[in-house]
Amino acid sequence: MTPLFDSHAHLDFGPAEGRVDQVLAEARAAGVRFVAAIGVGRDLASLQAAADIARDHEDVCATAGVHPHDASGADGLLDPLREVGARPEVVAIGEMGLDYHYMHSEREVQQQAFRAQIRIARDLGKPVVLHIRDAHQDVMEILTSEDVGEVGGIVHCFSSGPDELQEYLALGLYISFSGIVTFPAAKSVREAARQTPLDRLLVETDSPYLAPVPHRGKKNQPAYVVHTAQVLADLRNESLDTIATQTTQNAHTIYRL
Ligand SMILES: [Zn+2]
Ligand SMILES: [Zn+2]
Repeated sequence: MTPLFDSHAHLDFGPAEGRVDQVLAEARAAGVRFVAAIGVGRDLASLQAAADIARDHEDVCATAGVHPHDASGADGLLDPLREVGARPEVVAIGEMGLDYHYMHSEREVQQQAFRAQIRIARDLGKPVVLHIRDAHQDVMEILTSEDVGEVGGIVHCFSSGPDELQEYLALGLYISFSGIVTFPAAKSVREAARQTPLDRLLVETDSPYLAPVPHRGKKNQPAYVVHTAQVLADLRNESLDTIATQTTQNAHTIYRL
């Protein structure tokens, strides 16, 4: 089978921290060759951690960004983000976005940090990785007014439904599905997975979060993306190999690998 590409995993904290070699070996044994190590900077060290992992491991690329949860500390991280974002291992800026579910930072603070990071991505000519939770309208307004189409990007861990899907697709964005799509109760997410065009489809773990069925409730790891890819294949009446071939190709395209 064509090797899978986990388009979104955190390898610098959680169970993978300090044992990336083993986690990647387990992924490869499961048929997952490529991993995007997503960087969430809370300080200078964490801003660079994913890029360092990508530098030291074959078939791992990285991103760097400030998560909406951490937006209140974003101001001091924007200049360093420009520098880290320019590193060759860093293929996208983010994850960034708006999270009105947890509200760890005020709305306006989140919006400012989001806009600033889209501008950095545009200056660097790199795509964005978007984290969106209960904030669809404001995200659409910002993506449109900041002209995200110039660099493109990924809606990571898609958690809305078909209506929102169509709006993101119209902006030219790629849609990445996580273990949520393996939960039978996630009906609107599963319907969106059916409707996403094959050439915009990505698959991810969001390790260490959101482990797919049959590992639900445990710590997630890139090897488990196979289960999510299988559910996508089942929902769409396509073969696992079709899903693997196309999602791996799409990840290479959007990350410009
Ligand atoms: Zn996220
Ligand atoms: Zn993430």
